[in-house]
Amino acid sequence: MQLLDGKKTSQEIKFELAEAVKLRKENGKKIPHLAAVLVGNDGGSLTYVNAKVKACEEIGFESTLIKYDSSVSEEILLEKIKSLNEDKSIDGFIVQLPLPKHIDELKVTQAIDPKKDVDGFHPVNLGNMILNIPSFLPATPAGVVELLKRNNIETKGKNCVIIGRSNIVGQPLSILLSQNTNPGNCTVTLAHSHTSNLKELCLSADILVAAIGRPKFVTADMVKSGAVVIDVGTTRVEEDSRERGWYLSGDVDFKNVAPKCSFITPVPGGVGPMTIASLMINTLKAMDLKGK
Ligand code: NAP
Repeated sequence: MQLLDGKKTSQEIKFELAEAVKLRKENGKKIPHLAAVLVGNDGGSLTYVNAKVKACEEIGFESTLIKYDSSVSEEILLEKIKSLNEDKSIDGFIVQLPLPKHIDELKVTQAIDPKKDVDGFHPVNLGNMILNIPSFLPATPAGVVELLKRNNIETKGKNCVIIGRSNIVGQPLSILLSQNTNPGNCTVTLAHSHTSNLKELCLSADILVAAIGRPKFVTADMVKSGAVVIDVGTTRVEEDSRERGWYLSGDVDFKNVAPKCSFITPVPGGVGPMTIASLMINTLKAMDLKGK
């Protein structure tokens, strides 16, 4: 079994991006500027946004963090998005999800200028992705694909089963991996909570992706010997013995599944850092797409 080390791979990407920034500086070009909007005090969201800002600092991007109380109205948030759309100094921005229930996430996503939508969630960018038109790819699926690519994992002709069909992970990943590209050319099965023969399907998978949000859902008896297993899940599980009172669990029972795999991602240190690296790739791409 080989560990698919997302932390290491993401460091390589961040190093390459830092070199690109250096070159831009030398050529008198604009330095990419990412803004992140955070609503509320959810611990997970705060951790993710801070990690994104830290990655910008490491690479040399400019960054701005905009924080709102969880009681902020949808109207104020939409006004902020409009001003970020118009702000020429900002090249790309994200609104960290999930948002409080009184705010319509789809409305927020659609309000973002597709040319600044570095999360790749806008319908225009999702449409471009399907047609293979250069655009912002959703960060987590693109991170998974990049991890496979940089670790020379063959995808052509493989059976891939993805569990979870969210708009931000499972669905777009199923499209990317089934396209006539490299990585790609998989035969993809997208499973969800109504899938009846899940164990049987998983056992047929050469590449198995879990994006469910249920700790240790994928057990050893669901995994074919030699499979590549990608664990997207990140759930905080309470545990009093830990100093902070919780630990981060993936969707895969790592301890028992790992010995059966050819490759497997750990949690933390697998898909998470690759998601951040993808966001950084998109932020640099924002400059190219605008010809800056
Ligand atoms: P989500 O919106 O939470 O949806 C979960 C998906 O899992 C749904 O499609 C659901 O099916 C499916 N599901 C739930 N129970 C199931 C079961 N028993 N059998 C089969 N399918 C089942 O998904 P998400 O936003 O993609 O998040 C999934 C996990 O990934 C979470 O732990 C999240 O924190 C993590 N995540 C990590 C990163 C990262 O960078 N590492 C990024 C994004 C998300 P239905 O559609 O039928 O309800």
